[in-house]
Amino acid sequence: MRSKFLQIFILSGLLLILLLYSGFYFRTFWQIQKKAFLSRLSGAEAELSYLRRENYELKEALFSEQDKNRLFEKEIGRIFSVVGGLQKLSELDPELLKKYSKVYFLSENYVPKELTTIDPEYLYTKSQDLYFHKRALLFLEKMFAAAEADGIKLMVVSAYRSFGQQADIKSGLKITYGYGANRFSADQGYSEHQLGTTVDLTSQETGAFNKFEATAGYKWLNANAYNFGFVLSYPPGNSYYVFEPWHWRFVGTALATKLREQGKYFYDLPQREIDEYLITIFD
Ligand SMILES: [Zn+2]
Repeated sequence: MRSKFLQIFILSGLLLILLLYSGFYFRTFWQIQKKAFLSRLSGAEAELSYLRRENYELKEALFSEQDKNRLFEKEIGRIFSVVGGLQKLSELDPELLKKYSKVYFLSENYVPKELTTIDPEYLYTKSQDLYFHKRALLFLEKMFAAAEADGIKLMVVSAYRSFGQQADIKSGLKITYGYGANRFSADQGYSEHQLGTTVDLTSQETGAFNKFEATAGYKWLNANAYNFGFVLSYPPGNSYYVFEPWHWRFVGTALATKLREQGKYFYDLPQREIDEYLITIFD
């Protein structure tokens, strides 16, 4: 009986020791696991914050690249518009806005590239072909139509004249008028008519040059021609020729309007200032 009790006591003791030991073991195990988990967690947190930071930096870099692209596109656009302007300018004849008239000389070989015949409807002498610059002709026709709407019938007496034709006219006038012809006719190479953008006009009222000044046609041109890009080259008191109310040169609407607003004539402006208007002459 006594030994049985002792046996139970020892077994209980052993069981208690086992329980305590395993309890201690599990506690230690749990603590190690918890520590490992926490350390993994803080590692993940650190990684997350690192990724966040990296993400932010990438975004910043992206925005800065986008800004650069926008600037680049803007610059490319600017370059294209400069190139476009130069291309447009290179296709325009620089002679079209040069001053002639005893100052600048036009080569005897110069013939405008885009000459075309003027509709005989607009001609003073129907039987004779007259030529004009193709692109300026559109403006001339519009001007004639506008004048007609106001009851004025304008007509072209003379338009493009070649170097040779001008030489013939001048020598004919010199036979009649001698040196005095220089006051009312240009020498070959100095005539605006060789450009193909200048016309001598008259109206049905008179039909003659010398009376044109007194006509409603001249008055109409003085008030409206600038709207169609035409200007009077030789106003009263100019230093080149006699007053030529019939002689109108196409210089483009922008330049004609500027001259009108400033109360100036083509030959009053320095060539440098005139040249800026070449690019828009046919606009
Ligand atoms: Zn003329």
